[in-house]
Amino acid sequence: MNVIHTIEELRAIILENKQKGKRIGLVPTMGFLHEGHLTLATQARAENDVVMMSIFVNPTQFGPNEDFASYPRDLQRDTKLAASVGVDVIFAPSVEEMYPHDGGIYIRAGQQATVLCGASRPSHFDGVLQVVAKLFNLFQPDFAYFGQKDAQQVAIIQTMVRDYNFPVELRIIPVIREEDGLAKSSRNVYLSATERAQAPAIQQALQLAKQELMASGNVEQSIQLAKRIVEANLEGKTDYLTFLSYPDLTEVTAETQQVLLAAAVYIGKTRLIDNVIFSLKGEPAYV
Ligand code: AMP
Repeated sequence: MNVIHTIEELRAIILENKQKGKRIGLVPTMGFLHEGHLTLATQARAENDVVMMSIFVNPTQFGPNEDFASYPRDLQRDTKLAASVGVDVIFAPSVEEMYPHDGGIYIRAGQQATVLCGASRPSHFDGVLQVVAKLFNLFQPDFAYFGQKDAQQVAIIQTMVRDYNFPVELRIIPVIREEDGLAKSSRNVYLSATERAQAPAIQQALQLAKQELMASGNVEQSIQLAKRIVEANLEGKTDYLTFLSYPDLTEVTAETQQVLLAAAVYIGKTRLIDNVIFSLKGEPAYV
């Protein structure tokens, strides 16, 4: 496997593979890999000639009081894990390599970014779109792999790809969980033993709220039920816990095909997110 750090090296590898007509799959990550990332890479391996992974903790998607500096990083460990699932190339650039200039031209996420994480993390999705647009231009992937764990991110990137005609097909992988139901996340390492034991309550609350909504059709009652479970089971604070229509991220109505039930919860200082997507009519959900 090839670990590269510069755009010049990346351009050369992409050109060579494009000239040979190879199908390129891209897995964008911020590193500190876990089974969620590795599942994306495994699917990419099955569907492409060349699998490329970016590992870049993107500063422009972190707010001033967020965890950019302390975000876990371990390229050596990531390299071994990525190799174990057949990644061919890791692109791990520095911040200076990715953002040498600021020409003042930005991509701004739209209405979909005004809710959920976008409401509590202003400009987060602008930063996500900035880095994802750059990665798409750099890698020119046929397929790009993202996780439903970040359902709002997926919805917003889908909109950018559609509206700006990026020649890439997005492939979305379900949420990968620990055995007790906690969604895998690089941020789980921040949790103390007590917090870690409490964290599966987030997923339990979402599952009960989903069942309540399916049974009663009462959105508010289902949300209150889930919030009570979260508050009773963990020492923390709910940032949001809500139902929205997916992928447009507007209010649920009688016409809503797919529902996103999403939560962000602070356990101590750690902010964790999770979600479930389902159809009110019992049809299989899609992302
Ligand atoms: P991150 O490194 O957190 O930016 O995540 C990189 C990619 O992995 C994103 O597309 C995430 O949605 C995806 N991902 C992270 N955690 C999970 C998970 N538990 N299950 C599925 N995908 C995930």
